[in-house]
Amino acid sequence: MLADSGYHTILPDELYDYLTKGRALPAKPIMLTFDDTDGDQYEIARPELMKYGFNAVYFIVFTNIAKNKHYMYRQQIKQLSDEGNVIACHTQDHGNFKKLKGADWETQIDVPKKKLEILTGKPVKYFAFPFGLWNSQGLPELHRRGFLAAFQLTDMRDPNDAIMTIRRLIDCGYWTTATLDYNIKHDFGKPANKKQPELAAR
Ligand SMILES: [Zn+2]
Repeated sequence: MLADSGYHTILPDELYDYLTKGRALPAKPIMLTFDDTDGDQYEIARPELMKYGFNAVYFIVFTNIAKNKHYMYRQQIKQLSDEGNVIACHTQDHGNFKKLKGADWETQIDVPKKKLEILTGKPVKYFAFPFGLWNSQGLPELHRRGFLAAFQLTDMRDPNDAIMTIRRLIDCGYWTTATLDYNIKHDFGKPANKKQPELAAR
C-alpha cells in the first residue's frame, strides 16, 4: 500500500535536516521504525521492504540481541546497517526513561550506544523511549550524550524540545492497509490519546 501510494522512506538524518535546516524531503516521505530487536523484523520485514527499495530504522534493545530464537543476532543487525538502514538506541534492557537516575544513564544509554557503534561501525545518533515514556527533565541527558533526536509514541511533543519528542504512529499489526492509510493521514493532527490499547500493550 505504501509503495502503491507513492510513499518514499526517509531516514532520521533526512528528517533531522528537514526539521532543523529546512532541507527538502522526497514526495510523500515516511519513516518506518522497528523497536525491540525482534527477529521477525529481519526475517519478515527486511525482505518485504527490500522489494520496494524501502529503508527503515531499527531501535535496538541491547540485551534482546540473541536472547532467544525470537530476537535478532548481532550479524543480522550489522547486515541491516550495512544495507543502508539505521541502527539506533532503545536502551540496554528496555528501562523506563522516566525512572533513570545516577548511574542508570550510563548503563541504560551510554553502554548500549557505544556497543552498537562498535557493532555497526557507525555513530548512533537516535533514540526511542521504551514504552514511549519520557519526561522533560531527562531530555537534556540525551543532548549531552550526542543524540540528535528522539522518538516517542503519540503523546504531545515537549514544546521546549520537540526534536527529542518526535511522535510516531504504531501499526499494531492487525490494521488493514486502509486503516494504516487513514491513520497516516489523520492521526498526527489529533491530540495525544494515552488510552490506545496498543500503547498499553507495549
Ligand atoms: Zn520497546
